Amino acid sequence: MEYQSRQLLIQYGVPVPEADVADSPEAASAIQARLGGMVVVKAQVLAGGRGKAGGVRIARTPEEAATVAGRILGLEIGGQRVRKVLVTRAVKSVKEYYLSVLVDRNAKGVEAVFSDKGGITIEEAAAGHPGRIRHVGLDPFLGPDGTSFLAGIGADELGPEIAQSLLEITRSLFRLCVEKDCSLIELNPLSLVEGGKLVALDAKIVVDDNGLPMHPELLAFRNPDEYGSDEIEAREAGLSYVGLDGNIGCMVNGAGLSMATMDLIKHYGAAPANFLDIGGSSNPEKVVKAFSILLGKPGVKAILINIFGGITRCDDVANGILKAKSMIEIGVPIVIRLIGTNDVKAKEILQGAGIEAYNDLGEAIKRVVAYVA
Ligand code: GDP
Ligand code: MN
Repeated sequence: MEYQSRQLLIQYGVPVPEADVADSPEAASAIQARLGGMVVVKAQVLAGGRGKAGGVRIARTPEEAATVAGRILGLEIGGQRVRKVLVTRAVKSVKEYYLSVLVDRNAKGVEAVFSDKGGITIEEAAAGHPGRIRHVGLDPFLGPDGTSFLAGIGADELGPEIAQSLLEITRSLFRLCVEKDCSLIELNPLSLVEGGKLVALDAKIVVDDNGLPMHPELLAFRNPDEYGSDEIEAREAGLSYVGLDGNIGCMVNGAGLSMATMDLIKHYGAAPANFLDIGGSSNPEKVVKAFSILLGKPGVKAILINIFGGITRCDDVANGILKAKSMIEIGVPIVIRLIGTNDVKAKEILQGAGIEAYNDLGEAIKRVVAYVA
Protein backbone atom coordinates (compact mmCIF):
# COMPACT_ATOMS: atom_id res chain seq x y z
CA MET A 1 0.00 0.00 0.00
CA GLU A 2 0.99 3.62 -0.44
CA TYR A 3 2.03 4.07 3.20
CA GLN A 4 4.38 1.10 2.83
CA SER A 5 5.69 2.14 -0.59
CA ARG A 6 6.55 5.49 0.95
CA GLN A 7 8.82 3.80 3.46
CA LEU A 8 10.85 2.33 0.61
CA LEU A 9 10.99 5.69 -1.17
CA ILE A 10 12.26 7.35 2.01
CA GLN A 11 14.88 4.62 2.42
CA TYR A 12 16.13 5.35 -1.11
CA GLY A 13 16.14 9.11 -0.71
CA VAL A 14 13.08 10.03 -2.79
CA PRO A 15 11.36 13.14 -1.33
CA VAL A 16 7.83 12.53 -0.02
CA PRO A 17 5.61 14.77 2.13
CA GLU A 18 5.56 14.16 5.86
CA ALA A 19 2.77 11.73 6.78
CA ASP A 20 1.51 9.00 9.07
CA VAL A 21 -1.03 6.21 8.83
CA ALA A 22 -4.25 5.91 10.87
CA ASP A 23 -6.97 3.31 11.26
CA SER A 24 -9.55 5.48 13.05
CA PRO A 25 -10.92 9.04 12.82
CA GLU A 26 -9.33 9.82 16.24
CA ALA A 27 -5.89 8.72 15.08
CA ALA A 28 -6.27 10.75 11.86
CA SER A 29 -7.25 13.80 13.88
CA ALA A 30 -4.17 13.41 16.10
CA ILE A 31 -1.88 13.23 13.07
CA GLN A 32 -3.40 16.43 11.64
CA ALA A 33 -2.87 18.13 15.00
CA ARG A 34 0.78 17.05 14.99
CA LEU A 35 1.45 18.05 11.35
CA GLY A 36 -0.55 21.30 11.64
CA GLY A 37 -2.27 23.15 8.80
CA MET A 38 -3.73 21.60 5.69
CA VAL A 39 -3.49 17.82 5.28
CA VAL A 40 -4.62 15.29 2.67
CA VAL A 41 -6.42 12.21 4.00
CA LYS A 42 -5.99 9.26 1.63
CA ALA A 43 -7.62 5.83 1.45
CA GLN A 44 -5.08 3.00 1.67
CA VAL A 45 -6.20 0.31 -0.76
CA LEU A 46 -4.42 -1.61 -3.50
CA ALA A 47 -6.23 0.26 -6.24
CA GLY A 48 -5.65 3.35 -8.35
CA GLY A 49 -8.19 6.08 -8.99
CA ARG A 50 -8.71 6.72 -5.29
CA GLY A 51 -9.04 10.45 -5.91
CA LYS A 52 -11.98 9.95 -8.29
CA ALA A 53 -13.61 7.47 -5.90
CA GLY A 54 -13.70 10.06 -3.09
CA GLY A 55 -10.80 8.46 -1.27
CA VAL A 56 -8.52 11.53 -1.25
CA ARG A 57 -9.76 14.57 0.72
CA ILE A 58 -8.42 17.76 2.23
CA ALA A 59 -8.74 18.65 5.95
CA ARG A 60 -7.63 21.79 7.78
CA THR A 61 -8.44 21.12 11.44
CA PRO A 62 -8.35 18.06 13.73
CA GLU A 63 -12.18 17.91 13.67
CA GLU A 64 -12.24 18.05 9.88
CA ALA A 65 -9.55 15.36 9.69
CA ALA A 66 -11.66 13.09 11.91
CA THR A 67 -14.82 13.67 9.84
CA VAL A 68 -13.10 13.14 6.51
CA ALA A 69 -11.21 10.06 7.76
CA GLY A 70 -14.48 8.61 9.11
CA ARG A 71 -16.09 9.03 5.71
CA ILE A 72 -13.15 7.48 3.82
CA LEU A 73 -12.83 4.58 6.29
CA GLY A 74 -16.39 3.57 5.40
CA LEU A 75 -15.74 3.43 1.64
CA GLU A 76 -15.16 0.51 -0.65
CA ILE A 77 -12.77 1.30 -3.50
CA GLY A 78 -11.99 -1.13 -6.30
CA GLY A 79 -13.83 -3.84 -4.36
CA GLN A 80 -11.72 -3.29 -1.22
CA ARG A 81 -12.89 -2.00 2.17
CA VAL A 82 -10.79 0.93 3.31
CA ARG A 83 -9.25 0.04 6.70
CA LYS A 84 -6.47 2.59 6.88
CA VAL A 85 -5.92 6.19 5.81
CA LEU A 86 -2.69 8.07 5.23
CA VAL A 87 -2.66 11.62 6.56
CA THR A 88 -0.08 13.67 4.65
CA ARG A 89 0.98 17.28 4.92
CA ALA A 90 -0.66 18.98 1.91
CA VAL A 91 1.75 20.22 -0.69
CA LYS A 92 1.25 23.16 -3.03
CA SER A 93 1.77 21.71 -6.46
CA VAL A 94 2.85 23.91 -9.39
CA LYS A 95 2.98 21.09 -11.93
CA GLU A 96 2.34 17.35 -11.89
CA TYR A 97 4.66 14.88 -13.62
CA TYR A 98 4.53 11.13 -14.09
CA LEU A 99 7.64 9.02 -13.51
CA SER A 100 7.97 5.27 -13.36
CA VAL A 101 10.69 2.65 -13.52
CA LEU A 102 9.63 -0.80 -14.62
CA VAL A 103 10.76 -4.09 -16.08
CA ASP A 104 10.30 -3.94 -19.83
CA ARG A 105 9.98 -7.51 -21.02
CA ASN A 106 10.45 -6.66 -24.69
CA ALA A 107 13.75 -4.92 -24.03
CA LYS A 108 14.67 -7.58 -21.41
CA GLY A 109 15.66 -4.72 -19.16
CA VAL A 110 14.56 -1.85 -16.98
CA GLU A 111 13.09 1.29 -18.46
CA ALA A 112 11.96 4.66 -17.19
CA VAL A 113 8.72 6.26 -18.37
CA PHE A 114 8.28 10.00 -17.99
CA SER A 115 5.45 12.33 -18.86
CA ASP A 116 4.87 16.00 -18.14
CA LYS A 117 1.14 15.10 -18.12
CA GLY A 118 1.07 13.62 -14.63
CA GLY A 119 -1.85 13.41 -12.24
CA ILE A 120 -4.00 11.49 -14.73
CA THR A 121 -3.42 7.77 -15.29
CA ILE A 122 -0.70 6.90 -17.78
CA GLU A 123 -3.39 5.15 -19.87
CA GLU A 124 -5.33 8.43 -20.10
CA ALA A 125 -2.13 10.29 -20.91
CA ALA A 126 -1.33 7.73 -23.61
CA ALA A 127 -4.79 8.18 -25.14
CA GLY A 128 -4.88 11.99 -24.96
CA HIS A 129 -1.22 13.00 -25.29
CA PRO A 130 0.70 10.08 -26.81
CA GLY A 131 3.57 12.37 -27.84
CA ARG A 132 4.08 13.45 -24.22
CA ILE A 133 5.11 10.04 -22.92
CA ARG A 134 8.81 9.23 -23.09
CA HIS A 135 10.30 5.76 -22.68
CA VAL A 136 14.00 5.45 -21.92
CA GLY A 137 15.83 2.14 -21.62
CA LEU A 138 18.24 2.03 -18.68
CA ASP A 139 21.60 0.29 -18.47
CA PRO A 140 20.90 -2.87 -16.43
CA PHE A 141 24.07 -2.41 -14.35
CA LEU A 142 24.50 1.33 -14.17
CA GLY A 143 20.96 2.70 -14.35
CA PRO A 144 20.25 6.07 -15.97
CA ASP A 145 23.24 7.68 -17.61
CA GLY A 146 22.87 11.45 -17.29
CA THR A 147 23.15 12.68 -20.86
CA SER A 148 21.18 10.08 -22.78
CA PHE A 149 18.55 9.74 -20.04
CA LEU A 150 17.91 13.49 -19.97
CA ALA A 151 17.77 13.65 -23.76
CA GLY A 152 15.37 10.69 -23.74
CA ILE A 153 12.86 12.34 -21.42
CA GLY A 154 13.10 15.67 -23.26
CA ALA A 155 14.63 17.43 -20.26
CA ASP A 156 15.83 20.50 -22.17
CA GLU A 157 12.26 21.80 -22.00
CA LEU A 158 12.19 21.45 -18.20
CA GLY A 159 15.17 23.54 -17.14
CA PRO A 160 18.40 22.30 -15.54
CA GLU A 161 17.22 22.09 -11.91
CA ILE A 162 14.17 19.93 -12.59
CA ALA A 163 16.23 17.84 -14.99
CA GLN A 164 18.86 17.21 -12.31
CA SER A 165 16.21 16.27 -9.72
CA LEU A 166 14.53 13.91 -12.18
CA LEU A 167 17.86 12.24 -12.85
CA GLU A 168 18.56 11.79 -9.14
CA ILE A 169 15.07 10.46 -8.40
CA THR A 170 15.26 8.06 -11.34
CA ARG A 171 18.64 6.80 -10.07
CA SER A 172 17.05 6.12 -6.68
CA LEU A 173 14.08 4.35 -8.26
CA PHE A 174 16.42 2.25 -10.39
CA ARG A 175 18.40 1.14 -7.31
CA LEU A 176 15.18 0.37 -5.45
CA CYS A 177 13.82 -1.57 -8.43
CA VAL A 178 16.94 -3.73 -8.79
CA GLU A 179 17.74 -4.23 -5.11
CA LYS A 180 14.20 -5.13 -4.04
CA ASP A 181 13.20 -7.05 -7.19
CA CYS A 182 10.38 -4.72 -8.20
CA SER A 183 8.51 -4.97 -11.47
CA LEU A 184 7.07 -1.44 -11.25
CA ILE A 185 7.62 1.74 -9.27
CA GLU A 186 5.24 4.51 -10.25
CA LEU A 187 5.16 8.08 -8.94
CA ASN A 188 1.98 9.79 -10.13
CA PRO A 189 1.96 12.59 -9.49
CA LEU A 190 5.56 13.52 -8.95
CA SER A 191 4.83 17.15 -8.12
CA LEU A 192 6.86 20.26 -8.66
CA VAL A 193 6.35 22.40 -5.57
CA GLU A 194 7.02 26.09 -5.08
CA GLY A 195 10.77 26.61 -4.78
CA GLY A 196 11.47 24.10 -7.55
CA LYS A 197 11.64 20.86 -5.56
CA LEU A 198 10.09 17.58 -6.80
CA VAL A 199 8.01 15.57 -4.29
CA ALA A 200 6.35 12.18 -4.83
CA LEU A 201 2.69 12.62 -3.84
CA ASP A 202 1.69 9.07 -4.72
CA ALA A 203 3.68 5.87 -4.86
CA LYS A 204 2.77 2.53 -6.29
CA ILE A 205 5.26 -0.32 -6.07
CA VAL A 206 4.81 -3.85 -7.42
CA VAL A 207 7.34 -6.42 -6.27
CA ASP A 208 8.03 -9.73 -7.98
CA ASP A 209 6.64 -12.47 -5.72
CA ASN A 210 9.56 -14.68 -6.74
CA GLY A 211 11.92 -12.21 -5.08
CA LEU A 212 10.07 -12.18 -1.76
CA PRO A 213 11.99 -15.01 -0.09
CA MET A 214 15.11 -12.83 -0.43
CA HIS A 215 13.39 -9.82 1.12
CA PRO A 216 11.83 -10.67 4.50
CA GLU A 217 11.35 -6.94 5.11
CA LEU A 218 8.95 -6.86 2.13
CA LEU A 219 7.15 -10.00 3.28
CA ALA A 220 6.35 -8.10 6.46
CA PHE A 221 4.35 -5.65 4.32
CA ARG A 222 1.91 -8.39 3.44
CA ASN A 223 -1.57 -7.52 4.60
CA PRO A 224 -3.83 -10.51 5.44
CA ASP A 225 -6.93 -8.48 4.49
CA GLU A 226 -5.76 -8.46 0.88
CA TYR A 227 -6.17 -12.19 0.48
CA GLY A 228 -9.16 -14.52 0.49
CA SER A 229 -9.08 -17.48 2.88
CA ASP A 230 -8.69 -19.73 -0.20
CA GLU A 231 -5.53 -17.86 -1.20
CA ILE A 232 -4.05 -18.04 2.28
CA GLU A 233 -4.79 -21.77 2.54
CA ALA A 234 -3.24 -22.38 -0.91
CA ARG A 235 -0.10 -20.43 -0.07
CA GLU A 236 0.36 -22.38 3.16
CA ALA A 237 0.04 -25.61 1.17
CA GLY A 238 2.68 -24.42 -1.32
CA LEU A 239 0.20 -24.27 -4.21
CA SER A 240 0.40 -21.61 -6.86
CA TYR A 241 -3.17 -20.28 -6.70
CA VAL A 242 -5.18 -17.17 -7.52
CA GLY A 243 -8.88 -16.89 -6.62
CA LEU A 244 -11.25 -15.57 -9.32
CA ASP A 245 -14.99 -14.91 -9.66
CA GLY A 246 -16.22 -17.76 -11.89
CA ASN A 247 -17.79 -21.11 -10.98
CA ILE A 248 -15.52 -23.72 -12.61
CA GLY A 249 -12.80 -24.84 -10.22
CA CYS A 250 -9.57 -25.60 -12.09
CA MET A 251 -6.76 -27.95 -11.20
CA VAL A 252 -3.98 -28.02 -13.76
CA ASN A 253 -0.32 -29.05 -13.89
CA GLY A 254 1.78 -26.21 -15.22
CA ALA A 255 1.25 -22.46 -15.20
CA GLY A 256 1.08 -22.12 -19.00
CA LEU A 257 -1.45 -24.92 -19.27
CA SER A 258 -3.46 -23.31 -16.45
CA MET A 259 -3.59 -20.03 -18.34
CA ALA A 260 -4.61 -21.79 -21.57
CA THR A 261 -7.30 -23.71 -19.67
CA MET A 262 -8.74 -20.50 -18.22
CA ASP A 263 -8.73 -18.87 -21.67
CA LEU A 264 -10.60 -21.83 -23.16
CA ILE A 265 -13.21 -21.84 -20.39
CA LYS A 266 -13.87 -18.18 -21.21
CA HIS A 267 -13.87 -19.01 -24.91
CA TYR A 268 -16.66 -21.54 -24.37
CA GLY A 269 -18.72 -18.99 -22.46
CA ALA A 270 -18.08 -19.78 -18.78
CA ALA A 271 -15.67 -18.43 -16.16
CA PRO A 272 -12.93 -20.07 -14.07
CA ALA A 273 -13.18 -19.88 -10.27
CA ASN A 274 -9.42 -19.83 -9.92
CA PHE A 275 -5.96 -20.29 -11.32
CA LEU A 276 -4.24 -23.31 -9.82
CA ASP A 277 -0.98 -24.90 -10.87
CA ILE A 278 -0.54 -28.11 -8.86
CA GLY A 279 2.90 -28.52 -10.41
CA GLY A 280 4.47 -31.65 -11.79
CA SER A 281 3.50 -33.79 -8.85
CA SER A 282 0.80 -36.40 -8.60
CA ASN A 283 1.13 -36.41 -4.84
CA PRO A 284 -2.37 -37.29 -3.57
CA GLU A 285 -1.98 -34.99 -0.56
CA LYS A 286 -1.59 -32.01 -2.86
CA VAL A 287 -4.58 -33.14 -4.90
CA VAL A 288 -6.68 -33.54 -1.74
CA LYS A 289 -5.63 -30.09 -0.55
CA ALA A 290 -6.45 -28.61 -3.94
CA PHE A 291 -9.89 -30.24 -3.90
CA SER A 292 -10.62 -28.96 -0.43
CA ILE A 293 -9.65 -25.39 -1.40
CA LEU A 294 -11.79 -25.49 -4.57
CA LEU A 295 -14.76 -27.06 -2.77
CA GLY A 296 -14.51 -24.55 0.08
CA LYS A 297 -14.89 -21.68 -2.34
CA PRO A 298 -18.49 -20.47 -2.53
CA GLY A 299 -20.06 -20.77 -5.96
CA VAL A 300 -17.90 -23.54 -7.42
CA LYS A 301 -20.34 -25.74 -9.41
CA ALA A 302 -17.96 -28.09 -11.21
CA ILE A 303 -14.29 -29.00 -11.26
CA LEU A 304 -12.07 -29.37 -14.28
CA ILE A 305 -8.80 -31.23 -13.96
CA ASN A 306 -6.39 -30.84 -16.86
CA ILE A 307 -3.18 -32.86 -16.82
CA PHE A 308 -0.46 -33.04 -19.42
CA GLY A 309 1.62 -36.08 -18.57
CA GLY A 310 5.28 -35.60 -19.36
CA ILE A 311 7.41 -36.58 -16.41
CA THR A 312 4.14 -36.69 -14.48
CA ARG A 313 2.51 -40.06 -15.12
CA CYS A 314 -1.21 -39.85 -15.82
CA ASP A 315 -1.93 -43.13 -13.99
CA ASP A 316 -0.28 -41.70 -10.85
CA VAL A 317 -2.52 -38.67 -11.12
CA ALA A 318 -5.59 -40.88 -11.63
CA ASN A 319 -4.73 -42.82 -8.48
CA GLY A 320 -4.20 -39.56 -6.64
CA ILE A 321 -7.65 -38.39 -7.70
CA LEU A 322 -9.30 -41.63 -6.54
CA LYS A 323 -7.48 -41.39 -3.24
CA ALA A 324 -8.61 -37.80 -2.83
CA LYS A 325 -12.16 -38.83 -3.70
CA SER A 326 -12.13 -41.50 -1.00
CA MET A 327 -10.88 -39.00 1.56
CA ILE A 328 -13.23 -36.08 0.98
CA GLU A 329 -16.80 -35.61 -0.10
CA ILE A 330 -16.88 -34.04 -3.57
CA GLY A 331 -20.41 -32.80 -4.14
CA VAL A 332 -19.93 -31.35 -7.64
CA PRO A 333 -19.30 -32.93 -11.06
CA ILE A 334 -15.65 -33.51 -11.99
CA VAL A 335 -14.40 -33.54 -15.57
CA ILE A 336 -10.90 -34.76 -16.25
CA ARG A 337 -8.71 -34.34 -19.26
CA LEU A 338 -5.48 -36.29 -19.27
CA ILE A 339 -3.02 -36.77 -22.07
CA GLY A 340 0.55 -38.01 -22.26
CA THR A 341 2.49 -40.65 -20.36
CA ASN A 342 0.26 -43.63 -19.41
CA ASP A 343 -2.97 -41.84 -20.32
CA VAL A 344 -4.68 -45.05 -21.53
CA LYS A 345 -4.09 -46.70 -18.17
CA ALA A 346 -5.26 -43.57 -16.39
CA LYS A 347 -8.53 -43.47 -18.31
CA GLU A 348 -9.21 -47.10 -17.39
CA ILE A 349 -8.63 -46.38 -13.72
CA LEU A 350 -10.90 -43.33 -13.76
CA GLN A 351 -13.67 -44.83 -15.86
CA GLY A 352 -13.65 -47.87 -13.54
CA ALA A 353 -14.51 -45.43 -10.76
CA GLY A 354 -17.21 -43.71 -12.82
CA ILE A 355 -15.27 -40.53 -13.56
CA GLU A 356 -15.46 -39.00 -17.04
CA ALA A 357 -12.04 -38.69 -18.62
CA TYR A 358 -11.15 -37.05 -21.91
CA ASN A 359 -8.04 -36.74 -24.07
CA ASP A 360 -9.32 -33.74 -25.99
CA LEU A 361 -9.20 -30.47 -24.06
CA GLY A 362 -11.93 -28.77 -26.11
CA GLU A 363 -14.33 -31.64 -25.45
CA ALA A 364 -13.55 -31.70 -21.74
CA ILE A 365 -14.12 -27.97 -21.43
CA LYS A 366 -17.40 -28.08 -23.36
CA ARG A 367 -18.53 -30.83 -20.97
CA VAL A 368 -17.66 -28.89 -17.80
CA VAL A 369 -19.20 -25.70 -19.20
CA ALA A 370 -22.44 -27.62 -19.84
CA TYR A 371 -22.50 -28.56 -16.13
CA VAL A 372 -22.47 -24.93 -14.98
CA ALA A 373 -24.64 -23.45 -17.74
P1 GDP B 1 -4.92 8.09 -6.93
O1 GDP B 1 -6.15 8.84 -7.37
O2 GDP B 1 -5.25 6.74 -6.36
O3 GDP B 1 -3.86 8.04 -7.97
O4 GDP B 1 -4.34 8.91 -5.67
P2 GDP B 1 -3.27 10.09 -5.58
O5 GDP B 1 -2.43 9.85 -4.41
O6 GDP B 1 -2.55 10.30 -6.88
O7 GDP B 1 -4.17 11.36 -5.27
C1 GDP B 1 -5.09 11.87 -6.23
C2 GDP B 1 -4.75 13.29 -6.61
O8 GDP B 1 -4.81 14.13 -5.49
C3 GDP B 1 -3.33 13.45 -7.13
O9 GDP B 1 -3.23 13.15 -8.50
C4 GDP B 1 -3.04 14.89 -6.83
O10 GDP B 1 -3.46 15.70 -7.92
C5 GDP B 1 -3.91 15.21 -5.64
N1 GDP B 1 -3.12 15.37 -4.42
C6 GDP B 1 -2.83 14.45 -3.47
N2 GDP B 1 -2.10 14.98 -2.48
C7 GDP B 1 -1.89 16.28 -2.81
C8 GDP B 1 -1.20 17.38 -2.20
O11 GDP B 1 -0.59 17.30 -1.14
N3 GDP B 1 -1.22 18.55 -2.88
C9 GDP B 1 -1.85 18.69 -4.08
N4 GDP B 1 -1.80 19.87 -4.68
N5 GDP B 1 -2.51 17.70 -4.66
C10 GDP B 1 -2.53 16.51 -4.05
MN1 MN C 1 -1.98 8.81 -8.28
